Amino acid sequence: MTTITDRLAIAHSRIAQAAQNSSRRAEDVQLLAVSKTKPNEQIIQAYNAGQRRFGENYVQEGESKINTLNQEFPDIEWHFIGPLQSNKTKVVATLFDWMHTVDREKIAQRLNEQRPESMSPLNVCIQVNISQEANKSGVAACEVQALAEKIAQMPKLALRGLMAIPSADVDEQTATKEMAALQALYNQLAQGFASIDTLSVGMSNDLELAVAHGSTMVRIGSAIFGERDYSKA
Ligand SMILES: *Cc1c(COP(=O)(O)O)cnc(C)c1O
Repeated sequence: MTTITDRLAIAHSRIAQAAQNSSRRAEDVQLLAVSKTKPNEQIIQAYNAGQRRFGENYVQEGESKINTLNQEFPDIEWHFIGPLQSNKTKVVATLFDWMHTVDREKIAQRLNEQRPESMSPLNVCIQVNISQEANKSGVAACEVQALAEKIAQMPKLALRGLMAIPSADVDEQTATKEMAALQALYNQLAQGFASIDTLSVGMSNDLELAVAHGSTMVRIGSAIFGERDYSKA
């Protein structure tokens, strides 16, 4: 049987290989373990194998996991990576370390207001809709700069970079085109903001392509924890 420890090691070696293929350093690509729908026992198994960054998609599920695990595992870094309604921002502002899916000023404003004074600024990425599909979340590429300027002025937010979910099930050429467009947008944005150091892109099935296009944080779920069963979530 393959364990979570085995699968984490495989994910790390995929990252290392992909980095090497692009003459990048493996340590410049962080691994975010996406634990949505998975029980706390599996998070602890990954923790015991050395994993410290975990990503959650759902406010309630994330809140319950953090409240249960925070005391015993205070060095876990929690990343919110799902869609967020503006009436749910408080949970993210008070419990998470990172928020990857900021896609409008209103959300940023609420997070900034609700982030407790006692906590360090919330690390945020702007989610960009790189595939330009109308039904996907994220801001259009042409709106990124304006939103970044707004966020950069919010004292309880730290603007760290961009996040994207490229189209799934497209041909290799389309996938490569999207990644290249994202990388260009990221490089351009990073020139204007010294705080930007994070390109959050790449999942179980496309981490190699993402690392080849400058990803600094891959978000890996099923390749570590196995397929998700949404019927039990
Ligand atoms: C679920 C999810 C992932 C992980 O996807 P896998 O294909 O299981 O690796 C990464 N990013 C986001 C935003 C997700 O919702």
